[in-house]
Amino acid sequence: MALRVSDIRRVRYGTFTRPRAETGTEHPRVEVVLGYAVQHPEGLILFDTGIGAADAETDAWYEPSRVPLSQALAGAGLGVEDVDLVVNCHLHFDHCGGNPLVGATPILAQRRELAVARAGDYTFTELVDHPGSNYQPLDGEAEPLPGVHVIPTPGHVDGHQSLVVATSDGTVVLAGQSHDTASAWSADALAARAPELGHAPPLPDAPVWMDRLLELDPRRVVFAHDAAVWEP
Ligand SMILES: [Zn+2]
Repeated sequence: MALRVSDIRRVRYGTFTRPRAETGTEHPRVEVVLGYAVQHPEGLILFDTGIGAADAETDAWYEPSRVPLSQALAGAGLGVEDVDLVVNCHLHFDHCGGNPLVGATPILAQRRELAVARAGDYTFTELVDHPGSNYQPLDGEAEPLPGVHVIPTPGHVDGHQSLVVATSDGTVVLAGQSHDTASAWSADALAARAPELGHAPPLPDAPVWMDRLLELDPRRVVFAHDAAVWEP
């Protein structure tokens, strides 16, 4: 039986404040951290695992308010033991924080992202590898389960990836942090189509992969740091 949109559940991992230096405004911004659980007939996929332990400097900078993985999953009616596959959009500490808690459950990340994360000065390396960790590095696109596609969406970081899920209600894109907000996605979706909409140069540039995602005709796009949802 095909997936429904309702088989994709939001997982709330908490919030942090993005300081003024990063918002480009006079004010800090409170941002949510969201993951998504996909109840596929062949297994439960968890897209991102939450805000991990950081150092005092990082905690002072972002002031994270964490919801532990087990509690976040319980909020979606799930347990850590239910997870069959983890996909990380990227390996910054606010996306891979629960990875050390998934044991030998396979984790999908882009090979280039893993290499950068393991090299240091990028994330907290103890959140990336743990005893028995089972990474399955990807080089580009993959279809880990039928109708579920991992698609590279570089920008925020070079090794960023998104998850595209076919459902009986249409394609759902779990964009992660391809864009910080739904409205930023909306702007790029229009920018990608500006020529066909009849607009003349100069035009804004959209990421090159925007065409790849739009050709899949997404009916719903959701994000890691925005509770807002994009619909066409
Ligand atoms: Zn993030």
